[in-house]
Amino acid sequence: MLNVSKIREDFPILTREVNKRQLAYLDNGATTQKPRAVLDAVNQMSTLWNANIHRGVHYLSQQSTDMYEGAREAVRSFINASSTREIVFTAGATASINTVAFSFGERYVNAGDEVLITEMEHHANIVPWQLMCQRKGAVLKYIPFDDSGELQLEMLDELLTEKTRILCIVQVSNSLGTINPVKELTKRAHEKGVPVLVDGSQAVPHMEVDVQDIDCDFYVFSGHKLYAPTGIGVLYGKEKYLEELPPYQGGGDMIAHVRLDGGTTWAELPLKFEAGTTNYIGAVGLGAAIRYIEEIGLKSIEAYEKELLLYANQRLSTIGSLTIYGNAPHKAAIVSFLLNGIHQLDTGMVLDKLGIAVRTGTHCTEPVMAHFGIEGTVRASFAMYNTKEEIDRLYEALIVVQQMFGGAY
Ligand code: PMP
Repeated sequence: MLNVSKIREDFPILTREVNKRQLAYLDNGATTQKPRAVLDAVNQMSTLWNANIHRGVHYLSQQSTDMYEGAREAVRSFINASSTREIVFTAGATASINTVAFSFGERYVNAGDEVLITEMEHHANIVPWQLMCQRKGAVLKYIPFDDSGELQLEMLDELLTEKTRILCIVQVSNSLGTINPVKELTKRAHEKGVPVLVDGSQAVPHMEVDVQDIDCDFYVFSGHKLYAPTGIGVLYGKEKYLEELPPYQGGGDMIAHVRLDGGTTWAELPLKFEAGTTNYIGAVGLGAAIRYIEEIGLKSIEAYEKELLLYANQRLSTIGSLTIYGNAPHKAAIVSFLLNGIHQLDTGMVLDKLGIAVRTGTHCTEPVMAHFGIEGTVRASFAMYNTKEEIDRLYEALIVVQQMFGGAY
């Protein structure tokens, strides 16, 4: 079991007040707070070890390089990739997906080909594919989902055609909380020879991930949703694909040799995809976050967050005029809802006044909102440091919102 009060002590920001109330931070889907272990790692990296990586023979540069490569090994082991050659550091999930969309498109996609994604993707896993399909004259297709927030997988066979070049799916929806069966989907796509990209941004903080077990060809996530700093993320790619894809960006560190006559050659993996000075300090912070999470254990985190989700569902469903969007049987601890007849911004602003931080809006999933014919939702997304008391506060604050705006209730 988790020692939640001890975990909370590791996160300095959780002790602060907002609007003269104790902060209840329920916006973890947008970004998580950082434990002292991460803050210290970043601080030490800046104060003791800072030097550009892969470039110097001097002591600090070598130390800095070792720490960066140590973080890469931490990521490899965290998602059980078979080699660090398959772990590319990027600026975040968005950068990772843009890298694949561009490079994969250049290498494998031609006019008339198809790319298959789902209707519940974050904009980061829609727009890069739209841009690539426009450039290549390819067709983007979508797997729909039903009103409970589950993918309509009975349509998969029809949608996966001999023209499909890649399938891209979110593992955990950031607005519905749905956990998609990515292993089964990957198997079905592979049966038709189609490679798979999984967007694990909302999965890695909540459950154990094994990319070899899923057998996906690409896996992406951001550090900042995993208790690490912003500006650092991961692109996992099977070596055979990363070898075959052309680079996304050019610059220092991604080359073997530069020739003015055009005979420039690329660095070995994974550096071929790491042009320029990367966020090596953020990478070390990500390594520290991973070690922190591994010490606590994702199995315990998952079990505790399930309890929080159950409790939140129980509490919120006693409010008669509240609708929850996303009721799939397999869900992560994300609850999107609306108080009927009350605008989500009004709800969010009152909650803020009461010290409760939630997300309001479309959560970068406009097509999900369009499915339900709504403009947006209020989203409470939980992390391992949240408590049932905070859910009680959310419940009580929603009653206040109702009283303020919902005379009719
Ligand atoms: N995919 C999902 C499922 C997300 O929730 C997010 C962030 N909300 C992203 C991709 C994009 O992440 P980032 O903005 O860190 O690149």
